[in-house]
Amino acid sequence: MTMEEMVAQLNQWAYEYYVLDNPSVTDARYDALYDRLVLLEKQTGVVLPDSPTRRVGGEPLKSFVQHDHLKRLYSLDKVQSFGELREWVDKVEKELGKTEFTVELKYDGLTINVTYRDGQFAGAATRGNGVTGEDVTEQVKTIRSVPLTIPFKGVCELQGEGIMRLSVLDRYNRTHKGDALKNARNAAAGAIRNLDPKVTAERNLDVVFYSNGYEEGLTVASQTELVAFLQNCGMRTNYVFEKAYCYDDIKAIIEKIGAARSSYDFLIDGVVVKVNDFAKREELGYTDKFPKWAVAYKFDAEQVTTELLDVDWQVGRTGKLTPIAKLAPVELCGATIRRATLNNFGDITRKRLKKRALVFIRRSNDVIPEVLGAAEDGGEEIVKPVLCPACGAPLQEVGALLYCVNAEHCRPQIVSRIVHYCSKNACDIEGLSDKTVELMVDELNVRSVADLYSLTEADLTPLFVLGDKESKKAQNVVIAIEKSKKVSLAQFIFALGLDNVGTVTARDLAARFGSVDALRQATVDQLTAVNGVGEVVAQGIVQFFAEPQNADIIDRLKDIGIDPVYRIKQSAGIFSGKKVVLTGSLANYTRAQASKLIEERGGEISSSVSRSVNLVIAGEDAGSKLEKARALGVEIIDEEQFVELLK
Ligand SMILES: [Zn+2]
Repeated sequence: MTMEEMVAQLNQWAYEYYVLDNPSVTDARYDALYDRLVLLEKQTGVVLPDSPTRRVGGEPLKSFVQHDHLKRLYSLDKVQSFGELREWVDKVEKELGKTEFTVELKYDGLTINVTYRDGQFAGAATRGNGVTGEDVTEQVKTIRSVPLTIPFKGVCELQGEGIMRLSVLDRYNRTHKGDALKNARNAAAGAIRNLDPKVTAERNLDVVFYSNGYEEGLTVASQTELVAFLQNCGMRTNYVFEKAYCYDDIKAIIEKIGAARSSYDFLIDGVVVKVNDFAKREELGYTDKFPKWAVAYKFDAEQVTTELLDVDWQVGRTGKLTPIAKLAPVELCGATIRRATLNNFGDITRKRLKKRALVFIRRSNDVIPEVLGAAEDGGEEIVKPVLCPACGAPLQEVGALLYCVNAEHCRPQIVSRIVHYCSKNACDIEGLSDKTVELMVDELNVRSVADLYSLTEADLTPLFVLGDKESKKAQNVVIAIEKSKKVSLAQFIFALGLDNVGTVTARDLAARFGSVDALRQATVDQLTAVNGVGEVVAQGIVQFFAEPQNADIIDRLKDIGIDPVYRIKQSAGIFSGKKVVLTGSLANYTRAQASKLIEERGGEISSSVSRSVNLVIAGEDAGSKLEKARALGVEIIDEEQFVELLK
């Protein structure tokens, strides 16, 4: 048997075992051939790209590297009831007329994005915020149901859910020493987001593939075709995949799934309904956050009752007070719950909550537990605070929210601003726990992030316990603080902690304004022109920079040398800043080649024509997109003009 034949045979057996759940040989026979392959590889020094020995899991990593997805991964809009589902179906049918839908299970695990290039597994990343995730290539490579080679030779990103089957979890807990894994979802997420790929390997995860993102040259036109493509690649696809043609069909399938849910060998938290046809999806398009062509129907999370003991008021970065319910400890979804969020004071009144009375608690798996409402009458009134529990300053009431306005001197506000500034997606200053930041504020009189840069190793050393002193933690923190001076503009904007400015908006602001000074001078009108920035967010940004104490901190940071500017990744070019649509067929280029040429010259490819599109390149037999471009008055050029531009 040649090495190629051995690898092909082992992969076929693994596919039968891990994807089809239908093994055709004993484990012993598999192991015997596997051992022969290992020996042959050692003798020859050759390891084929799809050899199963590549899945063993390499050395532990030091830290996760960020990965930019080639195309944004959207999350799905959610509905909680059949009424909301019906509204969604009505909306789709109003736009598209009679529509073919697909219904699939929504697995409860960790979403990953896998890249293939030239038919080979080229990497994997977590979903993260949809734009940037963590590189988990080494971890995912150990998962046997993710093929190392596929027949498709172009570039593609495919999304799936990493899950741990309940029977696998059970077997793992019976055969492993140490703490039992309580919950299959956390066990799967913890295995993939684990620096040691061997941990991923030993948990025996599965990946169920269900979606495609970026692709070059892939010609699937519907979810049905996509599933066939994934299966042809040797991937595990959704356990339930049904077509439906109206609301009643969809509802019946969901009810069937709901009834069967507890018999599945994996966790699901809902059902995903999608428009099957990809062209129709483009017609519906996207909101800022979600595709309009898909929706997740969420099953009710598990809930329990327990006693509400008291309410703590936490002061956050912006001075907002958040009530936290202290609860009599209760088990829920495999975890012990002692605290739950109450959002704001209005929430307490609306839910008629009282101290020393039973309340309903709900926990959806990755969300902090939530108090749903009172489960009985009686109990003690919860009093609305009038003074800040941290600094004693009078509180300001804005709608249902309470704010401490003493931003400059209120300790928890100072602490959480610094913690946020140092966090991973911000200035990424490693080695500082919340506790250490509190000590810096209390012992070293640190008052703002600008004060961080004058701290010395001698200042910091007393803050660490003996063991950490030996491991040079203080020294490392000083180095990390120094390193943070080279922060990117996007991270710096996020680090400032502007209200409602997350990592994605920070990146868009960085790209639009290019420097801190330009952002400081931006008007509300200029700000609202940025994707995802509305009136309220824009006003918040202008107000932030108008505050003398914020201006002072930014000036001080600038003096220290922190004044990042935006670096454009793509080379600027003729299509810079332009949204371009390709339609019809070009004589000299494939769609993928033309897209690449445009993107290399700074352009962004869009699949549908809208007002925001700047240019349409129309080849032979261009159809409805060309008509739409004409109707909207978008600039249109033909292939000849396109070739001219490229020169
Ligand atoms: Zn305060």
